[in-house]
Amino acid sequence: MSTHRPDSSFAGLRCLRCGRTFQPGSVDYVCPCRPNRGSDLGHLDAFYNYTAIASIRTKPSDPSYSSRTNPTAASSHPTTRTIERWWPLLPVGPESLPPLPAGDTPLLRADRLADALGLQCLYIKDDGRNPSGSLKDRASAIAVARARETGREVVATASTGNAAAALAAMSAAAAHESIIFVPHSAPQAKIAQLLVYGSRVLAVDGTYDDAFDLCVRACEEFGWYNRNTGYNPFMTEGKKTVSFEIAAQLSEAEDSSGRRENYSPATQFVAPDSVFVPVGDGSIIGGVYKGFWELKRLGWTDAVPRVFGVQSTASAAIHNAWRDDLEVPRRVLAETVADSISVNEPRDATKALRAVRASGGAFLLVEDEAILQAILPLARLGGVFAEPAGATALAGLQQAVRQGLLDLGETIVVISTGSGLKDVPAAMRIAGEPKVVPPSLDAVAESLKI
Ligand SMILES: *Cc1c(COP(=O)(O)O)cnc(C)c1O
Ligand SMILES: [Zn+2]
Repeated sequence: MSTHRPDSSFAGLRCLRCGRTFQPGSVDYVCPCRPNRGSDLGHLDAFYNYTAIASIRTKPSDPSYSSRTNPTAASSHPTTRTIERWWPLLPVGPESLPPLPAGDTPLLRADRLADALGLQCLYIKDDGRNPSGSLKDRASAIAVARARETGREVVATASTGNAAAALAAMSAAAAHESIIFVPHSAPQAKIAQLLVYGSRVLAVDGTYDDAFDLCVRACEEFGWYNRNTGYNPFMTEGKKTVSFEIAAQLSEAEDSSGRRENYSPATQFVAPDSVFVPVGDGSIIGGVYKGFWELKRLGWTDAVPRVFGVQSTASAAIHNAWRDDLEVPRRVLAETVADSISVNEPRDATKALRAVRASGGAFLLVEDEAILQAILPLARLGGVFAEPAGATALAGLQQAVRQGLLDLGETIVVISTGSGLKDVPAAMRIAGEPKVVPPSLDAVAESLKI
């Protein structure tokens, strides 16, 4: 049980379009200044009482020093290393989170991959190791918690993939009802996860955009809680926890390797210099930036890393808006093999553009072939089997090295957002075929040329 409740650290929501602020509980989704017009939503951004949060830090000598009460404390407690650890910086009470732990995924030091790229300090954050196999579990856990706290018995979303699978898993764990709108054309494999977890799945005879809009209208009509990406402002709040973990894990890594030379007691966590994130709707990258920004704001790190967003050339709406200095992306016809980042009309571009512009990063474009090829070194040299969207982050890093955008000695984190088991056919396209042999030693020797 939690020993302390965050009463008032969540302070409200601010519109990124008109600047208006809202008290907690006074608005659910977007600002009325521009409700639901494709990409150009009045996106809301949660803010907290940072001064109060910064002051909760206790000293290790204090008997109450534990991550139950203090998120900056290292703890081996199994559940408090999950997203619950960051309760003062979440818009929900920790006791409302579903009992299926999201987060606490490994940060893997990837020296062989670094060598291959001429880099010195590279890590992979393996978020495919979340309960439903993607980073989306961090956000869907918050959606279910929020639905519980606001008394909405049904939580719904429109998605063809990981966001829906995550919502299905988190809803099942919390015994909460979930309804998923998917485009009729959604691949069977994606729908299987939803059905197995017991969501009610509605296949909309239309596109993802049609499913998105229908979900918004159905939630309004029937009083369901809407998890839609780039519409529900709290999804950013779940996704940002990946950055909190990276900074905490980097500081643990430096402590144990004795690498930390200029240890300053004022800062406890360590931000990387650059972080690479695959981008579709733009919600994950917005959350990644927000997490690092908050750590800096609290004085728990020294700096915000440069945030690099990576898109496929076949789904480049947000990259194009960044290149052309637009606030609202122009629609594209996306057809990338990396289905999780295949987006015509990005729903969270405001936060994505802010992330890259404010951090001094960049958007990078990679070909689908480079995305598929990146699956191999990520697995063979880094130990992580990623779905194409997850490997896109590495393809972006390869591109950044070629373009000379990095200092080769800097600390770099690649976020692998989803498990390779999510999309086996894509992996088979570059994995090759096994040799078929009769069951004899001669055949083995012959076949392997021993
Ligand atoms: C959703 C998703 C992305 C893209 O995130 P956006 O918030 O849409 O930019 C990338 N990789 C995986 C595995 C995802 O599920
Ligand atoms: Zn507004």
